[in-house]
Amino acid sequence: MSLDELYQEVILDHYKNPRGKCPIDCPHAACSLYNPLCGDQVDVSLSVEGQPEGCPLKVLDVGFAGHGCSISQASASMMSDLCRGKSVAEICELCMAFREFMRGNRSAEDVKDQLGDAVALEGVRKFSARVKCAMLAWEAMEKCLKQV
Ligand code: ZN
Repeated sequence: MSLDELYQEVILDHYKNPRGKCPIDCPHAACSLYNPLCGDQVDVSLSVEGQPEGCPLKVLDVGFAGHGCSISQASASMMSDLCRGKSVAEICELCMAFREFMRGNRSAEDVKDQLGDAVALEGVRKFSARVKCAMLAWEAMEKCLKQV
């Protein structure tokens, strides 16, 4: 199996069996984004854990809802899987790393430990119109983090 085929399988798996595709009850933050170029909709919601003063704020759970192309929905599944249980600061870094990866400024090799399954979206970088699809959930997450 070539790397392209493997990546395709990872994307399809997230698309068909999304992780965390269930909006959170009474979320601490929520953001819906729409990509008019493709018709994708992603709604991201999250809950945070109350922390003692001075401790990093932690995201307890991440959920999403939405519809659209396989890239947008698989990327939302990968993002929620990756961010669940991480601190707000860590998630900011993940979002930045993913953006740099999508822009071609960082290689898959460089970010694979950090981004996990999301490196399977490497092939999307060749199609600038689809980068927006892949970025949608991550942008919604960044907007959510500004609310907590
Ligand atoms: Zn799309």
